[in-house]
Amino acid sequence: MCETAFLQCIQPACRATFALNAPIYECSKCRALLDVAYDWNRLTPPSTLQAFEKRWATRSNPIDFSGVWRFRDLLPFAKDADLVTIGEGQTILQTPDTAAMSLPLRPGNLHLQYEGMNPSGSFKDNGMTAAFTMARMLGKQRVGCASTGNTSASLAMYASLTRLPNGQPMRGVVFVGAGKIAFGKLSQALDYGALTLQIDGDFDACMARVREAADRIGLYLMNSVNPFRLEGQKTIMYRILEGLRWQVPDWIVVPGGNLGNTSAFGKAWIELKQLGLVSRIPRLAVINAAGANTLYELYTRRGVRWNNGNWDCDTVCNHYDEMTKQGRKASTIATAIEIARPVNLSKALRALDAMNGVVCEVTDDEILEEKALVGRHGFGCEPASAASVAGLRQLLANGTIDRDARVVCILTGHALKDPDATVKYHTGIDTKGVTVSPGASNPTGRHANLPIRVADNIDEICRAIESSS
Ligand SMILES: *Cc1c(COP(=O)(O)O)cnc(C)c1O
Ligand SMILES: [Zn+2]
Repeated sequence: MCETAFLQCIQPACRATFALNAPIYECSKCRALLDVAYDWNRLTPPSTLQAFEKRWATRSNPIDFSGVWRFRDLLPFAKDADLVTIGEGQTILQTPDTAAMSLPLRPGNLHLQYEGMNPSGSFKDNGMTAAFTMARMLGKQRVGCASTGNTSASLAMYASLTRLPNGQPMRGVVFVGAGKIAFGKLSQALDYGALTLQIDGDFDACMARVREAADRIGLYLMNSVNPFRLEGQKTIMYRILEGLRWQVPDWIVVPGGNLGNTSAFGKAWIELKQLGLVSRIPRLAVINAAGANTLYELYTRRGVRWNNGNWDCDTVCNHYDEMTKQGRKASTIATAIEIARPVNLSKALRALDAMNGVVCEVTDDEILEEKALVGRHGFGCEPASAASVAGLRQLLANGTIDRDARVVCILTGHALKDPDATVKYHTGIDTKGVTVSPGASNPTGRHANLPIRVADNIDEICRAIESSS
């Protein structure tokens, strides 16, 4: 282990530190969340961000090829030889036509950070590569997570590819809510060979059970409560800077579920500023689905703030108690953000404070319309990802985001993750694999693209093509 990296309680009044390899996910003194922290005075981070470009010349080295580890100087908790990588983070900052997207942003000022390009098809790989690096350093043979789908897909993939230093395989164990996960994601967990436990409950129940299993049988927890996950996810911000030739954007817009990204992004910018690598910090917009709007409810409606670590626990507990009493559970088409009790709430409040953030909520219909629009422009994402674009539209309409601003929306997962949602949007039909007959379905989406049923007859086929344009 490097002694220049350690675990530290995020609570300013506590700040207890622990060895990097302490098998804990919260402060043993005050139970707050932990950061991976660095003694930057004894490290040598580069003096400019441009310095990272030299790694483009040595891409035959896997850790320089990785879109996470080529920034390893900014997450220096492991030796080069210990890094686990499979080439994650080869993502692209896209610039769609803002007029075509019918957004009132200046042309060229909207960017889509396309994290669906990762090996398992979501941004989760950025975090898993770092968490697996730590799991392997700790010699953990069993790793587990609760998941709305993408965490399990990513964990399963890395587990099947990672061996312990002694050559032993690692066993991935994933907890998913029965019926709560998109098929693309479930298929990945099964294909990569993870032990897949379908729990009769929702994500929040799975999260509670996997934490108990971590305590009881030493399962190493790979959810974003694991601070090493967040170290890897910081690099999404570095790649955005890289995509903008090291210019800081004005806004980052991200969907909020368990709030790992929100937390990681905040930490990334706090550190970049502290290291003098950027001169200003962009603003952050976190977008909840209306059916899973805990952060919106607490931050925007009830005014809960980080308040230098003294955030209002009572208001949070009251809200959770109300949900329990009313039997209210998270419910949205955007299953990746269908989470009512986000584990990273406190770190997210810190991020919103550092980035002068806002939180809004969007409906499932808004999400599906934006998802279709993103797809129509040749990019594509799963429903949860499109919450970012739906949120942007709302924030432009109410004047929070200026039309001259440079905005980056994070597209968190690939379109093929949830084909059922896409087909249902375009056909109005819920059942998988059914042939759509004219009149049998009634899609209501503005961008619906209904398939046309045609007889196996060339005359009819040509007529159908010619009458369509
Ligand atoms: C996990 C996930 C999210 C939510 O991210 P958090 O860091 O948990 O807030 C959003 N979109 C997709 C596609 C995801 O897989
Ligand atoms: Zn503490």
